[in-house]
Amino acid sequence: MKSSGDRQSLQPRSATAESERRAYLEALGVDVWALRGSDAEENGVIADETSPQETTLLEWPELRETVAGCTLCSLHKTRTQTVFGVGSEHADWMIIGEAPGAEEDRRGEPFVGRAGKLLDEMLRAVGLARDAVFIANTLKCRPPNNRDPAADEAAACRAYLDRQISLLKPKLILAVGRIAAQNLLGTDAPLGRLRGQKHYLNDGQLPVVVTYHPAYLLRSPTQKRKAWQDLCLARQIVNELAA
Ligand code: URA
Repeated sequence: MKSSGDRQSLQPRSATAESERRAYLEALGVDVWALRGSDAEENGVIADETSPQETTLLEWPELRETVAGCTLCSLHKTRTQTVFGVGSEHADWMIIGEAPGAEEDRRGEPFVGRAGKLLDEMLRAVGLARDAVFIANTLKCRPPNNRDPAADEAAACRAYLDRQISLLKPKLILAVGRIAAQNLLGTDAPLGRLRGQKHYLNDGQLPVVVTYHPAYLLRSPTQKRKAWQDLCLARQIVNELAA
């Protein structure tokens, strides 16, 4: 299958086009999810959601489009827009935060508020421009009042993050903050135990370094020294991989 360059649009499809697509995906062993009882379905067309399995087939443009139209969890009702991620699709470093805040929700870009400015400075300190890395969040929609992501929201969004990782193939992931690190690594260990060491995803193929969230560093500047150590560890890992 041509991963989904042939996925035309996320508009509801006609029943005929939909049944052809379903037959095709079923022949490939791909699950297809449908929203039941939607207005579109009642009008004779089926508004479907992309299943996690189908998401693994999407290329960058279709993935962006799918995220932009996502209604898998209730956060779509309160968002201004989704926040897909930003940066180079060829970056060695992928930075993963928690979820968009108010400013990110308004502008559609991750880490653009005060915490974002500090993140940019942290990256610059290890020789990285913002546009040389790829920055994303575990959630693509803002939780109301910046509350912590709920487990079902993180689960619903996970396939998008996983597909971003597999398309990007970064040399290293820098997880910023407890929520991002715990979600990504599937642990409930405190941040103090997760930072300062190398973790792995993808069967040991992909190193992950955890550090403090820049919003926390703004409140607790004395922890910046430890964040600097984490960044140096990340830099060392990437340098060793390139050597
Ligand atoms: N905090 C995050 O974790 N992500 C953002 O995009 C902004 C603030």
